[in-house]
Amino acid sequence: MKETETIHFKIPDDLKKCIEFHGHLCPGLVYGYLVAKAAMDLLKIKRSRDEEVVAISENDSCAVDALQILLGTSTGKGNLILKDYGKNVYTVLNRSNRKAYRFSRKKHYQYEGESKDEFFQLDAAVSSGTATEKEKRRHKMLKAADLLSKPFHDIFSTAEADCVMPSYAPLARSKACAACGEMTMSSKMVETENGTLLCIPCAS
Ligand SMILES: [Zn+2]
Ligand SMILES: [Zn+2]
Repeated sequence: MKETETIHFKIPDDLKKCIEFHGHLCPGLVYGYLVAKAAMDLLKIKRSRDEEVVAISENDSCAVDALQILLGTSTGKGNLILKDYGKNVYTVLNRSNRKAYRFSRKKHYQYEGESKDEFFQLDAAVSSGTATEKEKRRHKMLKAADLLSKPFHDIFSTAEADCVMPSYAPLARSKACAACGEMTMSSKMVETENGTLLCIPCAS
């Protein structure tokens, strides 16, 4: 296998930013990148400073990092919600015009790039668990490049969704846990039978 062969494709500047943050280029990051771009277009949004844009990801994979960089959604701001369902599905909401779109990856991914023979060999090695780290990286690169060359609607189906607003990040006063003494957001504490408040680790 020719491992030194290069792939000829141009990485857009905004994708470069995502790669810088994420650490590598991979198919997962490209999924997130494509979804974020489509959402920005459909919802007429720019990177979110506050919480007007909300992203709900139904997986906790590499894709999420591209949503953070391009949409400005983050768990710290409370406008990135991760649902660990293992699904390649994303919903992006715009609070200001109350619109939302849900993006779901279509079945049957098919490699259509220039290095078909190489891709199928690598794909077989990856599926059978015999691929080396270098081969795995090459497989990811080829798939990422191929995904970037396809039209969005070949990869994801897009549907308008109900703009059901997740509540803003709640602010609650902190209280000291009765067992460990550490300050804990009171809305996250567990009340015992005798009325004392415990943090979740102490209560479980
Ligand atoms: Zn990745
Ligand atoms: Zn505690």
